[in-house]
Amino acid sequence: MGETFIPLADLRYAADVPRIPETALPPGGLLADRLGRPLRDLRISVTDRCNFRCSYCMPKEVFDKAYRFLPHSSLLSFEEITRAARLFVAHGVSKLRLTGGEPLLRKNLELLIEQLAALRTPEGEALDITLTTNGSLLERKAEALRAAGLRRVTVSLDALDDTVFRRMNDVDFPVADVLRGIDAALRVGLAPIKINMVVKRGTNDHEIVPLARHVRDAYGPGVILRFIEYMDVGATNGWCMDEVLPSAAVVQRLTEVFPLQPLQPNASGETAARWRYLDGGGEIGVISSVTQAFCRDCNRARLSTEGKLFLCLFASRGHDLRTLLRGAYSDEQIAAAIGLIWGEREDRYSELRGAGAAAAGSGERRVEMHYIGG
Ligand code: SF4
Repeated sequence: MGETFIPLADLRYAADVPRIPETALPPGGLLADRLGRPLRDLRISVTDRCNFRCSYCMPKEVFDKAYRFLPHSSLLSFEEITRAARLFVAHGVSKLRLTGGEPLLRKNLELLIEQLAALRTPEGEALDITLTTNGSLLERKAEALRAAGLRRVTVSLDALDDTVFRRMNDVDFPVADVLRGIDAALRVGLAPIKINMVVKRGTNDHEIVPLARHVRDAYGPGVILRFIEYMDVGATNGWCMDEVLPSAAVVQRLTEVFPLQPLQPNASGETAARWRYLDGGGEIGVISSVTQAFCRDCNRARLSTEGKLFLCLFASRGHDLRTLLRGAYSDEQIAAAIGLIWGEREDRYSELRGAGAAAAGSGERRVEMHYIGG
């Protein structure tokens, strides 16, 4: 076991109220951070709650019955989220990912998706709106999500074997329900569908080939399976390097059964390295934050459930946009504040961790993934 668990009944994160620059930036226009990275991808956490207790994200010991989740009043409303998204889109964001916790637990999420789907880039393009879900409610919600304007979906699925899956989600939730959710998403035309498997050595790595076989046989090339290296996100999952199976080993295991060939990235800033099956059976991806950091072109920002902006998945401090959104600040002022924040960004935690740099993080407690989404 690595870092010790620090059970805390309630966790709150430090966030500074952003400065409004004297000279307001035009409420739009592309931004670049200190490493020249543009802002392209906004991940919006719509709830800090989840109905699973995956040990690598929300271990039951910490997120137990005593844990106090955020009261509804402190969550950004759909109108506040849409306003914030509109300001980010004016700055170059073209992709919105809805996350949680489990986003489908947020009531009437379709209404938010409708509002976001009406937004356009400065060039008049529709946004790429997607959602990451554990799939538990997908069978029931797929149609309404699609009708509201959701384009595609990513489903977390850490095992095909029911016993292993129930152990990973730690709430005894059956894998069959998630598989039916994926079928429903396919039926209503959410595409492409991506399936994310977090690989924990010694826990579910024996499921890599069976899950790959299932995705090839049951869905074919329209569904992309991605393997995520187990990460030291937050400070509660007891992460240690021994439980990380490097992506290179995942690819090696797969290619012995289904020969693979590397593919070019679809776009700069993509998190997954792509591989295709030589027999035309589709493609897979590996997301290797631990062994092959991809901070160099990271163009992602994360908005927490209560409106704190985080510039890295491994950040400790945020920027309190909610105070601006709920205060007497104009769009121009808030857009200018966002511009200033991004302009000063130099986060590259994984790269520094990889270089063994002690100062990879700030030393402050890292934000938990259920609070800002993956
Ligand atoms: S560690 Fe931070 S900077 Fe690096 S890719 Fe992940 S989110 Fe981006």
